[in-house]
Amino acid sequence: MPISEDQWFIMNLKPSIHGLLPEELEAFCKQNGQPAFRAKQIFDWLYGKFVPSFDEMKNLPAPLRALLAEHYSFQALEKLEVSGEKGETQKLLFKLSDKEMIETVIIPAPRRGTNTVCVSSQVGCVYGCAFCASGQKGVIRNLTAGEIVGEVMEVARQLGERPNNVVFMGIGEPFDNYDAVMKSVRILNHPDGLNIGARKITVSTCGVVPGIERLAEEGLQVELSVSLHAPDNETRSKTMPVNETWPLAELMDACANYTEKTNRIITFEYTLIKDLNDSPEQARELVQLLRRFPCRVNLIPLSPVEEFDGERPDSETMQIFFQTLEKAHINTTLRDSKGSNLKAACGQLRSRRS
Ligand code: SF4
Repeated sequence: MPISEDQWFIMNLKPSIHGLLPEELEAFCKQNGQPAFRAKQIFDWLYGKFVPSFDEMKNLPAPLRALLAEHYSFQALEKLEVSGEKGETQKLLFKLSDKEMIETVIIPAPRRGTNTVCVSSQVGCVYGCAFCASGQKGVIRNLTAGEIVGEVMEVARQLGERPNNVVFMGIGEPFDNYDAVMKSVRILNHPDGLNIGARKITVSTCGVVPGIERLAEEGLQVELSVSLHAPDNETRSKTMPVNETWPLAELMDACANYTEKTNRIITFEYTLIKDLNDSPEQARELVQLLRRFPCRVNLIPLSPVEEFDGERPDSETMQIFFQTLEKAHINTTLRDSKGSNLKAACGQLRSRRS
């Protein structure tokens, strides 16, 4: 249930200025008797100069600044807490205008000199994957495009520069909030704004087939990541209820069509859980499942959450799993999820209510 601009007004909340594309800003300027070039100036203040308020937009006439402030909120999120050290993985807790909470994670890669922002797309999540803290209490609402872009802007202000990569792997299922997520992608990707390349933006899904089908038609060069976590329906359904709606055969068909239509390679996320999905036989089944089309696999040892009684496998078991995929020429990485000490790793984020 996306919240429309009208609903924001009914809730007595102004929509965020960060939810507007340049053409929408231009329309706003025109409607209010302002020349179109003002829109470009506003966009530049927002995404080129990272200003923290309308007052800082010095080359705009004061009446236009007042008009913007009357119609739009500048800060859709209030930063309440930052966990972790500068230069390492950090988790940011935000309060939204309606007092709901979300978390955003900054993941630096010092050797490459890059920063990745992991954004939330919903407050909570309806899918309730067993190993994930975000989905334990269901979904409360979708984030607006302005709130999602706001997460990235808060990080940009904190870093003092634009982040290099954005991954939609925080709280929520991005395809359940499809329109707002795609709008935020277009704003982040816009050449007059942050200009984050589409290939530097990753949208993840737990396997929502209609979302994969829509993205295949979108004409965007974003990366797609699919959480798989098991090579057969029985095992997958144990931890991912979404598998009951879109079982593996349907999911794999959608992925094959996506690859064919877009020529893009999908990354499959596979959390390794001791005695559940980590056997050599399951590695071989995974090879069979994925050999239809080119893809990548990220193997991630389980990050502990209180709600899930599971353990990560020992290193030897993980190495055997990894090598089985490698020998079958599937491009595979075995990585630890960054930030598990902060509860900022995959599946550990949650929305907290005040
Ligand atoms: S893993 Fe993703 S889809 Fe599953 S419950 Fe968590 S946030 Fe939702």
